[in-house]
Amino acid sequence: MTASRENCIVCQIVGNKIPSKKIYEDEFVMAVLDVNGSNPGHCFVMPKNHYPILEQVPDIEIGRLFQASNKISSAIFESLGVQGTNIFVANGIPAGQTVAHFTINVIPRKENDGINLQWQPRQLNEEEMSTVELKLKEQAKNIGHFEKEDKKPRVHAPKPAALSEEEEEYFERQMRRLP
Ligand SMILES: [Zn+2]
Repeated sequence: MTASRENCIVCQIVGNKIPSKKIYEDEFVMAVLDVNGSNPGHCFVMPKNHYPILEQVPDIEIGRLFQASNKISSAIFESLGVQGTNIFVANGIPAGQTVAHFTINVIPRKENDGINLQWQPRQLNEEEMSTVELKLKEQAKNIGHFEKEDKKPRVHAPKPAALSEEEEEYFERQMRRLP
């Protein structure tokens, strides 16, 4: 599977090549209604720049995206009289990601609305937990280092360009990564 900006459905929505019900837009972020949404008001919040997965999105843009998602969530509460929202990311194919452009779902929730995002709790044994804890802690050491502020977000280029080979390979690798 190859994903390029030209055939990326989200980039086409951002570039107004595919019509959408736009709820919010600024220089980095766009939010649209999901026409096949789980509930009326289900929104997609996406970066205007093409990033296949969350890991590739610069910290500054992540900030903007989650800020917008929070505000969209508030707007849903205010305007639709819902009782809750789920803010949901499917990151990678095994997690249910279907389009190679990072997207945040904001899902309006009411009691007994039939949407199921629950899983069966599992009791992991102590050894498993300790092993996982060690591995994760090692990888998580540098989390606190927010990317430097001088790394400015890329301004969305209106003209879509093809993914570089390197970018494509990266996405392929990420999407095939085993749990
Ligand atoms: Zn895209």
